[in-house]
Amino acid sequence: MGELRNCPKCGKVFVMVNRNLCPDCVREEEEKFEQVRNYLKKYPGATVEQIAEKFDVEENVILRWLREGRIQDAHLEFKLTCQRCGTPIRIGTLCSRCAQELTSEMMDKAKHKKREEPAQKMEDEQEKIKRRMFIVDKLRDRD
Ligand SMILES: [Zn+2]
Ligand SMILES: [Zn+2]
Repeated sequence: MGELRNCPKCGKVFVMVNRNLCPDCVREEEEKFEQVRNYLKKYPGATVEQIAEKFDVEENVILRWLREGRIQDAHLEFKLTCQRCGTPIRIGTLCSRCAQELTSEMMDKAKHKKREEPAQKMEDEQEKIKRRMFIVDKLRDRD
């Protein structure tokens, strides 16, 4: 059985199931979500502040939608922070620097050998060719 709670938003008593809001407020939030999503389709690049003000939604509700992946737009300027260093980011979980660092760390670990191979191979091939030509020259000298 659910637990009786006062809705933190409107104060109504409700049975808590899996949300900390009463069904009315959940419905209201879902309606806002639809409005915000439609708004973002028309105006990609809107900020959290603009959306919060325009639709009377709390900023952290918008951030939750974003983290949950319910709102997705590469142009959005949301106030998310990098999970690794805390730098403000616009989308996702890592700043571009941390993402790059993590990628190169992984590359270093996994592909340390492979990374230098192509250039090295070319040099080896050229060396072989040079050596072969040298031998040919020597043989010619002998004749
Ligand atoms: Zn409520
Ligand atoms: Zn970072």
